[in-house]
Amino acid sequence: MSFLSLVRTEVVVNKRRILVVGAGSAGRYAARQAGRLGAEVVLASPPPFGGLCILSGCMPSKALLRPAHVYHFIKTGLSDLGLSLDTSSLRADIPAMVSMKDSMIQEMADSAHQSIIHDSAIRFVPEPVRFLSKDSAQIGQEVLHFDRAVIATGSTPRIPAIPGISPDWRWTSDDVLVCRELPKSVIVMGAGPIGLELGQYLAMLGVAVEVVEILHPWNRSIDKRIGEGYIEAVRKSGLPIHLGLAVQKFDTLKGRAILHATTREGEARRFEADRVLFATGRRAAVEGLDLEAAQVKMTPSGAISVDPYLRTSNPHIFAAGDVTGHLPVLNLATYHGEMAGKNAVLEHPLLVEERPVPISIFTEPEFARVGITEWEARTRAIPVMTGYLPFSDLGRAIVNRQTEGALKIVAHSTTREILGAEMFGAGAADLIHLMGVAIALGATVDSYQRILHIHPTMAEIVRYVIDEMTGAL
Ligand SMILES: Cc1cc2nc3c(=O)[nH]c(=O)nc-3n(C[C@H](O)[C@H](O)[C@H](O)COP(=O)(O)OP(=O)(O)OC[C@H]3O[C@@H](n4cnc5c(N)ncnc54)[C@H](O)[C@@H]3O)c2cc1C
Repeated sequence: MSFLSLVRTEVVVNKRRILVVGAGSAGRYAARQAGRLGAEVVLASPPPFGGLCILSGCMPSKALLRPAHVYHFIKTGLSDLGLSLDTSSLRADIPAMVSMKDSMIQEMADSAHQSIIHDSAIRFVPEPVRFLSKDSAQIGQEVLHFDRAVIATGSTPRIPAIPGISPDWRWTSDDVLVCRELPKSVIVMGAGPIGLELGQYLAMLGVAVEVVEILHPWNRSIDKRIGEGYIEAVRKSGLPIHLGLAVQKFDTLKGRAILHATTREGEARRFEADRVLFATGRRAAVEGLDLEAAQVKMTPSGAISVDPYLRTSNPHIFAAGDVTGHLPVLNLATYHGEMAGKNAVLEHPLLVEERPVPISIFTEPEFARVGITEWEARTRAIPVMTGYLPFSDLGRAIVNRQTEGALKIVAHSTTREILGAEMFGAGAADLIHLMGVAIALGATVDSYQRILHIHPTMAEIVRYVIDEMTGAL
């Protein structure tokens, strides 16, 4: 629903006082939306300004991955293109890379800060919030009474309760992103997006990395060929990934970590490293908020519980972003932030429709998916037809020497509507949007088949899979 149709059909309660707690991505979207709809908005967040994505999430991780990928490509990929270079003097200047990343994120944070402080509908207060009651909060020295509030306080790394973890070698993603002198060896616990991206960053720069993951297969909802192909391709880039290992305990020996694990067959495995990066998920950041005073309840896993309107157990308080325990990705945090900001102002809140969330892992090669997979369709008894093609059958991938990858598309077998896609390979994080658009616009395999694609491009892979599904080839 567009903003214009929204203000025509929904009753906006003007001059409600809205408190937005947390100025990360979800909070900034909530504050701007509420301000645009005529509310008086107070946005409170302690320094530093910017939130996770800018300061220690999406942006800094990609800023460091890019030089690592280029460095690795120069060292290993040039000969594939018939190029040669004496790379013996090639050097990765980690402090320079980290400084470059720091100045870039500072610029981004400053720009986000400027856009908030110049928004006349928002009063920004650089202080943490503690709720005093269901409709009041302490913000620095000020006691604020609000009509509605949006909690968007984000998340912090989750460290599992495994015996023997020591602060001497315990690392989180925050530590990797500021590290100017890399350790010689690192164990990465968890083969999710953060573990694989940062594990590859370290490995490509010469650190001896071992990724340890309890799941086997890596992701059972993903097509076997895509999931296994992806993990194998990342392994081939120089990152060892051990699936199906349950970590039992840690020991410390001369300041180094010893990890003890067992395989699914019960066999003991041991790893030793200078650091252990815990990429084992994130938990809601709710410390100091006094949610009990606000009458806001938590889920059993420690996130803020919300209904389909993003309302908490206190109907005057909404929540958005990582703090809700929903998928911790930026596109969902901003979408939910926008909806929570709207719903805080409207007399009758809008149901937050479930949209397909495209997600990616920015390794080399990339992994991406959107909508539902065949496995998910089958578990929901949705009849589907599928198409699949490896990049090795794609002209552009062949001439680029980037044949590692594959795309699978899932469509409803009766309506022929496109329902989902999963892929890995060069450019997957961008290419997946073709499928995201198709799903959002309700395209069928037949309507998509009419779209001409430029030849030779990586995007043609979609057309070829669709040709196969429609029998056009
Ligand atoms: C290493 C890493 C890489 C990532 N890469 C990607 C990626 O490539 N793509 C992607 O989609 N997602 C990525 N993410 C996830 C993404 O960054 C988050 O999902 C998103 O930024 C969450 O936004 P948020 O607004 O919910 O929380 P945040 O951005 O964390 O904002 C919360 C804000 O609340 C403030 N706050 C906390 N407590 C209080 C309080 N008591 N009072 C007031 N304010 C408070 C905090 O200071 C902070 O500013 C990555 C995450 C990490 C860790």
